[in-house]
Amino acid sequence: MEIKQVAVVGAGTMGNGIAQVFAQADYPVTMIDISPAQLEKALATIGRSLAKLVEKNRLDEAERERTLARLHTTTDLQAAAAADLAVEAVFEDAAVKKQALQQLDAVLPRHSILASNTSSISITELAASVGRPAQVIGMHFMNPVPLMQLVEIIRGLQTSDETATATVDMVKRLGKTPVLVNDEAGFVANRILMPMINEAAYTLMEGVASAEAIDTVMKLGMNHPMGPLALADLIGLDVCLAIMEVLQRGLGDKYRPCPLLRRMVAAGYLGRKSGRGFYTYS
Ligand code: NAD
Repeated sequence: MEIKQVAVVGAGTMGNGIAQVFAQADYPVTMIDISPAQLEKALATIGRSLAKLVEKNRLDEAERERTLARLHTTTDLQAAAAADLAVEAVFEDAAVKKQALQQLDAVLPRHSILASNTSSISITELAASVGRPAQVIGMHFMNPVPLMQLVEIIRGLQTSDETATATVDMVKRLGKTPVLVNDEAGFVANRILMPMINEAAYTLMEGVASAEAIDTVMKLGMNHPMGPLALADLIGLDVCLAIMEVLQRGLGDKYRPCPLLRRMVAAGYLGRKSGRGFYTYS
């Protein structure tokens, strides 16, 4: 199955990066969001990211312009009508995702693949909510998308071999490395990563050390490129909390979200995207 056109639904932290990598790989991309302000912000973020690649001589000026010309933005989901692949990157909330997938299911051609960038929600459950479950798959990009090599590919119980093969091939065409995993809460990446971030939040809450000290221990002691609290700020504390809740529901109380994480989300301290999380950002 040939994928010629792509739609990305949700233009937040992940959606803009996903749209960028498809556009850089030559695909016309329609980026759709309910918020015009988010679309504007997404285009500005992509503009900055491409400019940095030009500065570092990893992209030439003509290709930067061609990439931007391949990107279109809209608040109208009908614009996905010609897409062979739609990737949803809306909030990490099963009800919101099912609604977006159902709307896409009604608009997309019969042959098209519906991919979800969910961090933790069951692909089997999402697939069961639409009329084409065999064509639903998890396509879990990592943050920041233009820089990260891995895409975790999650097969739901209903996902067909044809859908899995087309998705794996497409990820390779993006220059990224697909790893196929099965459908269980948090898959592989977040089942292992999120408990570490959650434990770092407990360590801070219990006064064992400051945020800077916790992150320095993990950077210098474990050779991690960034500390868990700085990483949580990059991901978004609301996203971290939503993932921990999925892990707790799916795998048990060992995955109870840290109360400090809950309080910070309630206060609107969401990390980089809100200007304040475990650290402050200007
Ligand atoms: P975000 O909050 O930054 O962005 C979500 C976007 O979706 C917002 O712009 C919002 O306006 C839009 N949206 C919400 N409902 C919509 C709808 N019905 N139609 C169109 N747009 C809609 O969130 P994010 O961090 O980009 O996360 C998106 C998805 O990617 C989540 O499933 C998350 O778990 C996953 N993910 C996040 C990260 C990360 O580091 N943040 C990493 C991997 C995967």
